[in-house]
Amino acid sequence: MSTLNLFARPLYVMAKPAGAHCNLRCEYCYYLEKQHLYEHGTRHQMSDDVLEAYIRSYIETNSLQDILFTWHGGEPLMRPLSFYKKAIRLQQYYGRGRRISNSLQTNGLMLDDEWCRFLHDEGWLVGISIDGTQEMHDAYRTDSQGRPSWQRVVDNIHLMERYGVEWNAMATVNRRNVEHPLEFYRFFRDTLHCRYLQFSPVVERILQHRDGRHLAQMLDKDCPIAPFSITPAQWGTFLCEIFDEWVRRDVGNIFVQIFDATLAGWCGVDPGLCTLARECGHAVVMEYNGDLYSCDHFVFPEYRLGNVMTDGLPQMLYGTKQNAFSQLKEKGLPRQCKVCEWLHACHGECPRLRFMRTADGEPGLNYLCAGYRQYFQHVAPQMDYMREELLAGRPAAGVMNQF
Ligand code: SF4
Ligand code: SF4
Repeated sequence: MSTLNLFARPLYVMAKPAGAHCNLRCEYCYYLEKQHLYEHGTRHQMSDDVLEAYIRSYIETNSLQDILFTWHGGEPLMRPLSFYKKAIRLQQYYGRGRRISNSLQTNGLMLDDEWCRFLHDEGWLVGISIDGTQEMHDAYRTDSQGRPSWQRVVDNIHLMERYGVEWNAMATVNRRNVEHPLEFYRFFRDTLHCRYLQFSPVVERILQHRDGRHLAQMLDKDCPIAPFSITPAQWGTFLCEIFDEWVRRDVGNIFVQIFDATLAGWCGVDPGLCTLARECGHAVVMEYNGDLYSCDHFVFPEYRLGNVMTDGLPQMLYGTKQNAFSQLKEKGLPRQCKVCEWLHACHGECPRLRFMRTADGEPGLNYLCAGYRQYFQHVAPQMDYMREELLAGRPAAGVMNQF
């Protein structure tokens, strides 16, 4: 136990009850191919034993009164409602008065009346994966027969709204929608009336593995960029154009995760978005069989922490291996980042994208660096203003009258 820094900070375990299995075949997906890590098992479904071990140990390990369970995939709705009802019974049994909440990240295709009633009655927060307008979304988010999915997702968003289910949008920013930032943003704001938005930039590199996986990881060298990936310049322009619209009319009304995280970084507080935080490793993932990995983007054999059926959760979450992973983000910064004027807001972004070299040849620079520099430079006056307003005890929304 001496190597553990137990309870120093809350850590989250994001569960994948159907493993990497999904009813879509989104072309850019980084997770579908994780099935190849588990080809010995045909049914990648979390057993009742793993579910119970997870819920019991997650509650016991957690030092907080409020405990958040996150269900992820793959597609978590590929498990039946009875699975989640069992999870709730176990949460109540082991929770013994703790405040427990649940969130679910889904492609939304399998939502129906029964699901929506459950999600509303149990107060679950639902993240819906949707990439913008029909044309943007259906460019990559199709099923195994190449059929589009946008219409069903939008229909089910309306269904959730009829039941009063709380939801937010998670959109990937890819080679197709990145060129249309305002159309993209206005679709969420004006058509879907979505108030909470998360953007995730798509960047992958190709590397064929013997087991069938075809995406590279951080340390792999000389791998070509996948065609659905965005360029740094596209990312920078995308963020700047949406920011300009948001900062003039939507502050305090539409919550764009990366803008909120940037402001938090500007104010010196934890941004709540791992990519812009000083450290990573605050949310590990648990595969269907109980295997834990350091991060959703590091589900590789080298980053396996153990298994919830055989290893203690505190040892896996707060042990040497995960601590080293958390610190990698800051320790691995190249000099260009260490002296960068935007380090306080960027922290070198996600280590998985640090496969570039700096101008003087040092490895470890983030692929999206130029885009982030463009973005931070552009938003600096408004970020400075909002920080001063917040420090003076006034709402940041005052920025809308100033620029
Ligand atoms: S590796 Fe990237 S995605 Fe994972 S926790 Fe760190 S910043 Fe977040
Ligand atoms: S903007 Fe670029 S140089 Fe600056 S901290 Fe971020 S990745 Fe590093």
